[in-house]
Amino acid sequence: MSAIVHARVTEHLQRLRLGHVAERLDALLTDAAKNERTFLDFLDVLLGEEIASKHHKRLVMGLQIAHFPAAKTLDGFDFALQPSVDKRLVHEVATGRFLANGENVLLFGPPGVGKTHLAIALGRAVIEAGHSALFVSTTALLGALAKAETEGQLDAKLAFYAKPKLLLIDELGYLPFERRSAHLLFQLVTKRYERGSLLITTNQAVTQWGQVFGDEVLAAAILDRLLHHSHTRMIQGESYRLRQKRKAGFVSSPKREPR
Ligand code: ADP
Ligand code: MG
Repeated sequence: MSAIVHARVTEHLQRLRLGHVAERLDALLTDAAKNERTFLDFLDVLLGEEIASKHHKRLVMGLQIAHFPAAKTLDGFDFALQPSVDKRLVHEVATGRFLANGENVLLFGPPGVGKTHLAIALGRAVIEAGHSALFVSTTALLGALAKAETEGQLDAKLAFYAKPKLLLIDELGYLPFERRSAHLLFQLVTKRYERGSLLITTNQAVTQWGQVFGDEVLAAAILDRLLHHSHTRMIQGESYRLRQKRKAGFVSSPKREPR
């Protein structure tokens, strides 16, 4: 190939935003010659590489935007250790189909049973399926909303948290919060209602939410919106951390083994 044609092809690839192929052009041409690829096979390899590269870039960017506190995957979750978790349902949620209807996912359970792990893993799966997600702890979320309200920026902050297709709110109910915070959360849930999905992890049964929110009426209004379209997952069983410690002999066995 003449140098002029090579330069033109590279320029066209860049203008078409096929940057990966533009960079790999020489290697792809050499490979095609060596393996005596047909024109169709050559195009197939070329387009396949560009698609894979774009998919990877989007995933990396989506994961950055999501701000997960740790790298957790569904593959890294040992379902055998937590039989109360329905593997089939978790994999259904991982497809991201629930997002189309703005359905919510609530993960209930005591500390240490893998709620945050599953939340991150599901958030990651949703991003892999091509959607946007944002992870935030309840404390950070309420802090950011309260600060924005004080600064007269509440609408912008609510819009920020309303934007991702999936908002993951971790550890609701670990600390009770003030009425003002409950009201801010109510505004956010209302803004996202039937438009964007929420995935919430909590250690509190819904009957306790009145206490967490410091207001039964507000708690009922929030729950009404959350539970209207929701997949609720109850995780029972023993703390993974305690189980690991017991295996190592740091903690004695519980008297009654939970199922
Ligand atoms: P929770 O949010 O319910 O308090 P975490 O998700 O933070 O619990 O889990 C505590 C730790 O135990 C994490 O490091 C998590 O990755 C791990 N873990 C919990 N359950 C499992 C499991 N079934 N398989 C693998 N790791 C688990
Ligand atoms: Mg947690």
